[in-house]
Amino acid sequence: MDLARIYAAHRFCLSFEVFPPKTASGEDSLFSHVERLVTWNPAYLTCTYGAGGSTQEKTLGLTARLKREFGLPVASHLTCVGASRNELRSYLHRAAEAGIDNIVALRGDPPSGESVFRTAADGLSYANELVAMIRAEFPRFGIAVGGYPETHQEASSPESDLQNLKRKVDAGADVVITQLFYDNQDFVRFRERCTSIGISVPIVPGILPITNLSQIQRITKLCGAKLPESLVKSLSEKDDEAWQYRVGVEHATRQVADLMALGVPGIHFYVLNKSSAAVDILSCIGS
Ligand code: FAD
Repeated sequence: MDLARIYAAHRFCLSFEVFPPKTASGEDSLFSHVERLVTWNPAYLTCTYGAGGSTQEKTLGLTARLKREFGLPVASHLTCVGASRNELRSYLHRAAEAGIDNIVALRGDPPSGESVFRTAADGLSYANELVAMIRAEFPRFGIAVGGYPETHQEASSPESDLQNLKRKVDAGADVVITQLFYDNQDFVRFRERCTSIGISVPIVPGILPITNLSQIQRITKLCGAKLPESLVKSLSEKDDEAWQYRVGVEHATRQVADLMALGVPGIHFYVLNKSSAAVDILSCIGS
């Protein structure tokens, strides 16, 4: 089922995002975690696409396998990095043949070692161009795009970033999934600003529960999201994984509960191929 219909049919949609494991044992472990996660009745599952297209075949195979094994709608992420238009078309053809319902359409980050995004030969420069290509040539797919409550790190201003998000929606995106954030006020302001410029598709908060301080410091540095000082202070109180897991999960539980009270259309969990944190949060909320 495509994302437009999924969000129209449910008042609240849970979704989980995984990434392609490097090894067969990693894949076995992932499927046992997803088995646990699907007991929470997610509306769909998504699978990321590696930098520079490095996990292309794995993404396709894993997304198709998730659909086969769990019988849920799925979305393959796809980026423009290093790919010509025809290579993107070829991926989309194969995704359609594999029964994949939706695409999370992204520009992608520069490959590691490079600091600036470079358009591939006969490739696409921005995600709005990928959305337009999918809409024109593969109308069967539902389309999600990325949104940035704290503004994308390369954007020249918050206003231009928002206009660029509107371009993606005007090109045909059905839903916006946000980058991770740890202060709900950033999401609230972002949602208001989206509404004020006429973005009317569902805006779904992306939540990455913190389970380890050094890991989240690495991730937020890469994607430009901020970690509130008070949260870092609590996490740093003990150099102990169980403590950091508890503080992180409690923070995410409050975030999710508050966001639900604010009437969000769903929560997209970045689960990092594990189930415990999402399951603990959902158990606590009792949804
Ligand atoms: P765009 O929307 O193209 O924006 C990139 C930058 O260019 C922004 O600063 C924007 O303001 C500006 N811009 C956009 N359009 C225009 C235009 N027409 N003219 C001028 N400026 C413009 N990365 C991966 O490699 N694999 C994944 O699977 C993946 N999944 C993700 C899932 C989600 C939900 C999110 C939020 C991000 C994901 N990312 C993934 C990260 C993403 O690739 C990076 O954040 C990337 O830097 C931007 O991608 P984008 O699609 O948002 O780019």
